[in-house]
Amino acid sequence: MEWEVVIGLEIHAQLATKTKIFSGAPTAYGAEPNTQACAVDLGFPGVLPVLNQEAVKMAIKFGLAVDAQLTDRSVFARKNYFYPDLPKGYQISQLDLPIVGKGQLSIELEDGSEKIIGITRAHLEEDAGKSSHENYPGQTSIDLNRAGTPLLEIVSEPDMSSAKEAVAYMKKIHSLVQYIEICDGNMQEGSFRCDSNVSVRPKGQKELGTRAELKNINSFRNVERAINIEIERQIELIEDGGTVVQETRLYDADKNETRSMRSKEEANDYRYFPDPDLLPIVLDPEVIEQIRATLPELPNAKRDRFINDMNLSSYDASVLTSSRQLADYFEAVLVASKNQDPKLCANWVISQLLGALNKASLEITQSPVSAEQLGGLLIRISDNTISGKIAKQIFESLWNAEGKDADSIIDAKGLKQVTDSGAIEAIIDQVIASNQGQLEQYRDGKEQLFGFFVGQVMKASKGQANPAQVNELLKAKLAG
Ligand code: ADP
Ligand code: MG
Repeated sequence: MEWEVVIGLEIHAQLATKTKIFSGAPTAYGAEPNTQACAVDLGFPGVLPVLNQEAVKMAIKFGLAVDAQLTDRSVFARKNYFYPDLPKGYQISQLDLPIVGKGQLSIELEDGSEKIIGITRAHLEEDAGKSSHENYPGQTSIDLNRAGTPLLEIVSEPDMSSAKEAVAYMKKIHSLVQYIEICDGNMQEGSFRCDSNVSVRPKGQKELGTRAELKNINSFRNVERAINIEIERQIELIEDGGTVVQETRLYDADKNETRSMRSKEEANDYRYFPDPDLLPIVLDPEVIEQIRATLPELPNAKRDRFINDMNLSSYDASVLTSSRQLADYFEAVLVASKNQDPKLCANWVISQLLGALNKASLEITQSPVSAEQLGGLLIRISDNTISGKIAKQIFESLWNAEGKDADSIIDAKGLKQVTDSGAIEAIIDQVIASNQGQLEQYRDGKEQLFGFFVGQVMKASKGQANPAQVNELLKAKLAG
């Protein structure tokens, strides 16, 4: 039997406001436990929530970025449940009237094609506190600093059909919320979290299969692994005559398995009702337009521009726009290199720079080589002062802070490309003189040896001879 996979994601993005969604307490991460929760966050009797306008603006910004319908009137609701990290006994969220309605986002698939993923809705809510079972043996400690931190929950349509697509979508949202500066995207600190809903159905079947929800997995890699292992589990279960039950499952990264956390029957009935303490949000079209004007160039538009205006491949353009910082870096290199050769800039940023950063586990913002330095280096490739090979050497020197810019390193180390044909001929003569055997073979018809001679000449010139000239002059000399 052939199976089809169906995946929908619920992403929680922590909004980058300075204060909480319903109080003036700070949202900064990493403070001493329980020093950033005020009476409102603690749910003391008699306090009233006051909506943080910034959180609303950020939600609208997201809605505009995914072409969503913004709801004229949206309402906060109480989601009631008991848990020690939720002192009020309810979470303020949105149910029937979320601030952001239907939208969409296109993702690139591995074969280079695009797929539109529907966004069902995005709503504002407050985060709960954090329970920890590690700080005190046998006891649970509660830190309420996170209580009341604004979240935007972004719910997708069940439009993804593989773990790879799910991750591509998740990465796209991750990059988007950072582009529009509504979330810092820090997954280690929990600023960006994802629940994956996964089901399978026989190929061709119209109705969706029963889904399991995989909770709070904190890396892209683990989302992919968790989904794949869950798909395998469901298919095996059905093929063995069982049925999938709707439930919440936890992913255990160490064992690479998912485990049941609670089934649908055990699920809470949240008894949602409109929060009487908060007025509905009514959006003013003028404010929406003001917010629209603050939107930066969005990743997809940037990508199209890189392809159309700079002639970059769709792969290069996707990589370079995968984060705003990387795109900014690339464009700064382009400017620093006097806009001579976008393709050369793209190659160097993608292969050389990203490769080196990756190896050193550094982010683009931590690059030891600045965009100005890299741009300066690329100018010297374009004007033939140095070869690509020498450029790599200079790149390393820049990386190791051995010089302030490419030109000073070229001067200090005498790396200028040799274009003086007399000097190149002298080297060729030398190489031929000390390789008489090969010369004879070459002249007897073993033409593959040409590469050997090129190699020897380049080596003798310490890589500095102009390769095109070496080829031309060498051919003539070898011919005799
Ligand atoms: P709930 O109210 O229980 O959270 P929703 O209907 O809001 O359920 O759906 C939550 C998420 O699950 C959405 O992202 C949706 O696309 C996804 N989803 C719904 N049904 C399925 C299914 N059968 N298979 C996979 N994903 C699904
Ligand atoms: Mg849900």
